[in-house]
Amino acid sequence: MSARVLVVDDIPANVKLLEARLSAEYFDVLCAYSGPEALEILTGNTVDIVLLDVMMPQMDGFEVCRRIKANPQTMHIPVIMVTALDQIKDRVTGLEAGADDFLTKPVNDLALIARVKNLVRVKTMTDELRSRANTTEQMGFDSGDLMKQLKGHEGGRILLVDDARSSADRIRKQLMGRFDLFLENDATAAMKLCSDQEFDCLLINLDMRTFDPLRLCAQLRSLEAARLVPILVLAQEADQKRIMRAFELGVNDYICQPVDRNELLARLHTQVLRKRYDDALRDSIQHTMELAIMDGLTKLYNRRYMTTHLGSLLASAREKEKPLSVLLMDIDFFKSVNDTHGHDAGDEVLEEFSQRMRKNTRGIDLVCRYGGEEFVVIMPDTDHSLAMVVAERIRKKVSEKPFIIHKGRQMIDVTVSIGLASSCRGEEQQDELLKRADDALYQAKHEGRNRVVVAQIKVL
Ligand code: GH3
Ligand code: MG
Ligand code: MG
Repeated sequence: MSARVLVVDDIPANVKLLEARLSAEYFDVLCAYSGPEALEILTGNTVDIVLLDVMMPQMDGFEVCRRIKANPQTMHIPVIMVTALDQIKDRVTGLEAGADDFLTKPVNDLALIARVKNLVRVKTMTDELRSRANTTEQMGFDSGDLMKQLKGHEGGRILLVDDARSSADRIRKQLMGRFDLFLENDATAAMKLCSDQEFDCLLINLDMRTFDPLRLCAQLRSLEAARLVPILVLAQEADQKRIMRAFELGVNDYICQPVDRNELLARLHTQVLRKRYDDALRDSIQHTMELAIMDGLTKLYNRRYMTTHLGSLLASAREKEKPLSVLLMDIDFFKSVNDTHGHDAGDEVLEEFSQRMRKNTRGIDLVCRYGGEEFVVIMPDTDHSLAMVVAERIRKKVSEKPFIIHKGRQMIDVTVSIGLASSCRGEEQQDELLKRADDALYQAKHEGRNRVVVAQIKVL
């Protein structure tokens, strides 16, 4: 779906002009001719971005912006203020009113599309983060981490690449106290720095003498470590051709020389948000997957995943007429580990135990934490005699080498009891299979622990 832009201006010709340009870029455009009309449209429609004229009778653009940003229903919608060219003061007022960026009249095509695209992208990401946080909550998980990502993104690490001392100094002064600025005056060194360190945005001067900044942009876009880091270029207004070329190379936005501080801060802020939200979304996929299927302490599959997956593994064994074996294990006298050495030491044992299990099973085996100190290994295509070898190996690997606790300050002996059940051709319900493994485990405990007991093969 294309993004929807609300254009607000009291002069119909201005509205028509912006509408035509945006439509040509396949944006869906809504129009309003006054502040109150704009606010009304915003209450009834989904809007992704607002282009707001400052000078309007009745209610000016600043007031409209203030109201948009004060309303919880609309505060996430980015606002671009359209100001007269020489009204520097307007930018300050606009920022105070909550505006996200500026455009100056007459509106330049390249600038219009760049500003709108950048802010729409950020809006899309915040929407997605919010919706994922919702789903996470609906699934009964804590969405605090995700929500945190949507708040408080001050500052950021900016790398400025510029070979002229004077312009670099000017930028440094402008960013002071707002962003952490790093400076590089050489292309090769900049590439190296970007592969070694993480930045939230790269600021590259297109007017450099010692190397070609466009080439640097292209190289940065193909550098794995910097591929997703936003690039903002400093350009001359007259140099539209090179700005266009920069966009083709994957640069995210530009700002004209001489740089206006407020504009620079606003634009860097947008790019930093973009980077942070992008990272957060990436992490959240990982995070949601982990929440859903992994055990937090041991990083093994959790019980829910195992019971879901065992069904399909049994079905596949049935279909291929292959055996499948299950090991159910329980650490011996684990309660006394906790009682004697503390719960943290118990956790250390569980982690180390999990690692030893992982090391002694194949990639295709499913290793999972079944409950407190109980674990399950499911081994596809494995009959009971082969499973017995694996079970014995795990039992030995646990008992033969003491476990390190208290971060290396102490060692204790640990043993495990294992119940083994196999299904010849998957012709068994998973509950039955697990029940047989559990009975065998019970027997192993009963017979003195630190041993493997094979369940009776089910006679069909
Ligand atoms: P047995 O040899 O018969 O299995 O004896 P046991 O002490 O291992 O068995 P029991 O079921 O009595 O105790 C299991 C203990 O495991 C009790 C519980 O507090 C502890 N436990 C369960 N989950 C965790 C955990 O995540 N961390 C720690 N440290 N302890 C846990
Ligand atoms: Mg137990
Ligand atoms: Mg136990």
